[in-house]
Amino acid sequence: MQLGAIEAGGTKFVCGIGDETGQIIEQIRIPTTTPTETLAGVTAFFKQHPVAAIGIGSFGPIGVNAKHRDFGYITNTPKAGWENFNFLGYIRTHLNIPVYWTTDVNVAAYGEYQLGAGKDIDNLVYFTVGTGIGAGVIYQGKFLRGFNHLEAGHILIKHLPTDHFAGVCPYHADCLEGLASGPALEQRFNAPAAELANRPEVWQLEATYIAQACVNYTLSYSPDRIVIGGGVMHQEQLFPLIREAFTNLLGHYTETPDVMNYIQRIKLNDDAGLTGCLLLANELIATGQTVGS
Ligand code: ADP
Ligand code: ZN
Repeated sequence: MQLGAIEAGGTKFVCGIGDETGQIIEQIRIPTTTPTETLAGVTAFFKQHPVAAIGIGSFGPIGVNAKHRDFGYITNTPKAGWENFNFLGYIRTHLNIPVYWTTDVNVAAYGEYQLGAGKDIDNLVYFTVGTGIGAGVIYQGKFLRGFNHLEAGHILIKHLPTDHFAGVCPYHADCLEGLASGPALEQRFNAPAAELANRPEVWQLEATYIAQACVNYTLSYSPDRIVIGGGVMHQEQLFPLIREAFTNLLGHYTETPDVMNYIQRIKLNDDAGLTGCLLLANELIATGQTVGS
């Protein structure tokens, strides 16, 4: 059975086809311009490559609660044309197949949960540190959500007194995303993040903020493992620093699994999102649903 995947990002859409094991067979990239232009490319691709169902992971915020009027919409984005856009409705109208709809972070979390760094556990926190910071929580195979999806990349953490950078989040200034995203590093240190590789103080500071997030996620969600991805995590030296800061900040208040095992890097890398989309599409078929979130 051929299944479809759409990873909808603010700069590009990646569309893929694959099978029910999550194996990606073919993929294309389409730049994110206007909804009409970008989605014409998306529907053309899936008309050429017919699939039985599609999983979508979208940039957001999006509406994922089927009881709400904004279900299926991209709600609140500065990207021209995409604000209050009924993305799910458009895909369902034009392709008329079952569609699973969730956030870009959740699909990557799901790929990791099933086939990557979380495949041996039941409960996972995944977060990505890139242009933004987003987190997804999976409990026993289900995404944790309430009135809507989580926004745990914007948690409020302690701003270190030695760090005088105001933060880049337009809503909260110095939330986690405001202090620790790629753009935060670039503005604070005035260079592309990848070019800061040889400055240990940069990664010590970054690790302290990421470790605070790991402590908060641990205390709030008690996962079996925390998996971290995103462009900034290409700096592998962050992992030992994060584990050390995490252990110190948690202060032995609660026992976690061994920290080497507990805090891990993403395993599927760039394939995590598409893999998750394929597996979610497959679950829809397996459960006979026409729409899922
Ligand atoms: P996005 O979040 O847009 O989906 P990424 O996860 O690739 O994309 O994150 C992009 C961010 O990651 C940019 O802010 C960039 O500066 C940062 N980044 C990319 N590569 C590296 C690297 N090798 N080291 C540190 N930061 C990086
Ligand atoms: Zn914020």
